[in-house]
Amino acid sequence: MKAPTIIACALLLFSCKQEQAASETATTPETQQTTTTEQEPTEPEATEIWEPVPEKVSPGSYPEPPADAIILFNGEDVDAWESADDPDTPVAWTLNPDGSMTVADGSGNIRTKQEFGDIQLHIEWKNPESPRADGQNRGNSGIFLQSLYEVQVLDSYDNPTYVNGQAGAVYKQHPPLVNASKPSGQWQVYDIIYHAPEWDGEGNKVSSATVTVLHNGVLIQDHVTIEGTTEYIGWPKNNPHGKAPLMLQDHNDNSGVSYRNIWVREL
Ligand code: MG
Repeated sequence: MKAPTIIACALLLFSCKQEQAASETATTPETQQTTTTEQEPTEPEATEIWEPVPEKVSPGSYPEPPADAIILFNGEDVDAWESADDPDTPVAWTLNPDGSMTVADGSGNIRTKQEFGDIQLHIEWKNPESPRADGQNRGNSGIFLQSLYEVQVLDSYDNPTYVNGQAGAVYKQHPPLVNASKPSGQWQVYDIIYHAPEWDGEGNKVSSATVTVLHNGVLIQDHVTIEGTTEYIGWPKNNPHGKAPLMLQDHNDNSGVSYRNIWVREL
């Protein structure tokens, strides 16, 4: 072993001894950040975790969903959905030959028959190629997590509006970090990680919902807190609820918004 190597090893050993000493003298003011008196492991195996082994999931080759996903819409039918206003009324949204569905203007919101809590959601959407209006009336729809908390869908490529109402906003609560919108008429993707709010037995909210959103692969909501319902007018509301359907919005203004490849994984 050459001299420089021996010196380096000696320094490393000295350094480790110093760290160990600091860990053992956890009560001195200089080391108050070290709260544990447990001796630092000296073997790599001591900090390895082997169980439980994460379950294997075949990720699928895009746009195929992962093997453990619940398919909500793959272009074949709308069997997983019902009218939000009247569950007995068949979904009137238009099934297209390209495997998408388009909002049938004025037919109302649609929601999943299945109810969800914490989820990972993948959903693709598209505005009409030729914009039909401006601001909030250009390709407005929305993805309502648990039917209550809207992640905005809007043609925001070149369409100024209030920023907490543009595409990817948690409506009236959080503007997106950046505008990752594609031009009108192109398919866009949201990948959403949502954690539901919780209440105790007395109806007191003990934890707020949080959401993370990737828009076309770009992070636009970074684990933000959802303060309550995403109201058009007024403050967020916080009435206790359990699992609830995912809902898609008919903004009732000839939006022409289409959706495809919708799947969730329950977390
Ligand atoms: Mg909307």
